[in-house]
Amino acid sequence: FNPNTELKKHAADIASQIVNDYKAHPIVVQKSTSVYDAIVQIFLEDVGTLYAVDKNGFLSGVISRKDLLRAAIGNTNLEELPVSVIMTRMPNIVTVKPEETLLDAAKKLIHNHIDSLPVVRESETEPNMIEVIGRITKTTITRAYAEMLEI
Ligand code: ADP
Repeated sequence: FNPNTELKKHAADIASQIVNDYKAHPIVVQKSTSVYDAIVQIFLEDVGTLYAVDKNGFLSGVISRKDLLRAAIGNTNLEELPVSVIMTRMPNIVTVKPEETLLDAAKKLIHNHIDSLPVVRESETEPNMIEVIGRITKTTITRAYAEMLEI
């Protein structure tokens, strides 16, 4: 019995867990949604990030709490301001695919200084368009690792 080898085996098991098995439900809004309604939505859904989609349902932007705060400080009419003006847009969105590992996702969150990643797949009908099928957040990853390490 070599504790180091055993430990490495467990570490490898943990590292190989895939995003698809841990992803959470994505909270999505139309990109024409007002900043006011997005703020309401972020409270109702109790999330830190919303994903914006276009009319066809394809990923178009990411809206974080800080994006909404920044917009709220600088603007008076939040009911008239669409989230498309303040969101982080494609192609600057960092995404993760369902078959990538949780460790890949964790590294992307850390390297890009962000709290969440949309889990995506390419559209089968529209080339270069992507669909949001979930989200991975710092909370999802922390929970997954805590569960795996609980003996
Ligand atoms: P918060 O703004 O609440 O601190 P984040 O740290 O996740 O939340 O967001 C910081 C900035 O990064 C925001 O401007 C947000 O739009 C952007 N952002 C968040 N998630 C992503 C992502 N997956 N890809 C690209 N940009 C993102």
